[in-house]
Amino acid sequence: MTETKLFLNGDFKNSSDGKLIPQTNPATEQVFCEVSAASVADVQVAIDGAQQTFEREWRDLSPRKRTDILFNVAKVIRENLETLAQLESQNVGKPISDARDEIALGARVFEYYAGAITKFCGQTIPVARGGFDFTLRQPMGVVAAIVPWNFPFPIACWKVAPALAAGNTVVLKPASQSPLTAILLGQLAYQAGVPAGALQVVPGQGSVIGDALATHPLIRKVSFTGSTEIGSRIMGLAARDLKRVSLELGGKSPNIVFGDADIAQAAASSPMSVFANTGQDCCARSRMFVERRAFDQFVELFIAETKKIVVGDPALDATQLGPLVSANQRAVAEEFIEGARKAGRVIAHGGQRPSPKGFYLQPTIVLGAEPTDRVWQEEVFGPVVCIRPFDDEEQMLREVNASRYGLSASLWTNDLKRALRVSRRIESGVISINSHSSVHVEAPFGGFKQSGLGRDLGMAAMEGYTELKNIYVAE
Ligand code: NAP
Repeated sequence: MTETKLFLNGDFKNSSDGKLIPQTNPATEQVFCEVSAASVADVQVAIDGAQQTFEREWRDLSPRKRTDILFNVAKVIRENLETLAQLESQNVGKPISDARDEIALGARVFEYYAGAITKFCGQTIPVARGGFDFTLRQPMGVVAAIVPWNFPFPIACWKVAPALAAGNTVVLKPASQSPLTAILLGQLAYQAGVPAGALQVVPGQGSVIGDALATHPLIRKVSFTGSTEIGSRIMGLAARDLKRVSLELGGKSPNIVFGDADIAQAAASSPMSVFANTGQDCCARSRMFVERRAFDQFVELFIAETKKIVVGDPALDATQLGPLVSANQRAVAEEFIEGARKAGRVIAHGGQRPSPKGFYLQPTIVLGAEPTDRVWQEEVFGPVVCIRPFDDEEQMLREVNASRYGLSASLWTNDLKRALRVSRRIESGVISINSHSSVHVEAPFGGFKQSGLGRDLGMAAMEGYTELKNIYVAE
């Protein structure tokens, strides 16, 4: 049975005002369930409960016990992997094989932070005065985790696992379009031994409960992933009482291919760097820069590889691209394509709906876009890529960095010196050389400029969920 209620203090609850959010399967366009939408009063209950559990139980639990509980959460996630994957696939149209990988990733995140608890250390500092000086990393209190719909389960785990590992309690708000796996995570974590109240799950409209989460005095940190616009709003609200924030926001990431690279390998690997998750990926390499001497060869191979991508029913194992999450998300992508068409750009592949039913859109390749074009400048968050040639490294780097975003970037070359030189100059938080891999559980993930603030994953995330305290003992 699909759980559709708030998960508060170890139990499922209807929202206090009875409001519901319908859930649509993007592949069929059918509403398949309705989820309780938390009210501001429910958020208050969630935060009060999380604060009580923080003070009474979780903050002072021994590292050993916290470690055991988080390893157990990972185990319970794995035991429920298929249920979680099916829910996610149905809720957002994600291909089932991707959904399975993402649930497994969530389990690995819990394992990493379970192990990190007993390895996360302070320092001893030889202060000039003598005596003994040391630092403690202490939990903050209640953390609000607000997550988007494109990778609902793993991003929830990126926030919940390190926050709990560091001794905080969490109020998790999933996106209205993808609340189902978050609700189940709340229940599974509780079953695995996370005490009642330590992980509260409040599905609900951001426009209704977002301000309450970002301004409540007991919330010590807001950890947000979503659009730059909402991230900026949250930062403004949090600034009132100087809450800590971490923000993982939008992107318009470059993929740079030099002429000396293995062009066949770059072209084979690059389509899924932008089209995976139907382009609904903050790291999507949607601006491709290809050195002119390799441009024609790369584009030809890139188009051929794109044609091989299997678009279709997300429930099938062979499917690589499902529908977009909603009719609205597809309409936004189509508007970008139409704009490019009207400006005389070449749609070298795609641009059409491959099926009359479901929010599908073909992977779309735009050639001839200018740096001033909207489709080159703005995040589409759909399966659309622009490819441009470049002649000069300096000029290319200026264009790469002429973006308000700076999340990730890929770089293809066999010249090590150039790879390192260019990597240093790109204004992005995550760079991949001869690869498109941006996310590693063990390494920091996050952006420069308007792509965000703070880091998810790795030990950097653990630091971000603690306050640093210095203690001095006189001799
Ligand atoms: P969004 O509209 O900003 O929503 C993200 C979350 O914020 C949802 O839970 C949403 O709830 C909530 N929200 C909406 N209005 C709010 C408010 N006034 N106060 C507090 N919370 C509010 O973004 P989206 O369309 O779901 O996600 C796409 C964006 O996320 C893209 O820009 C993408 O690049 C970015 N993203 C970034 C990363 C990264 O790690 N850098 C990862 C994934 C996605 P509702 O659903 O109820 O509106």
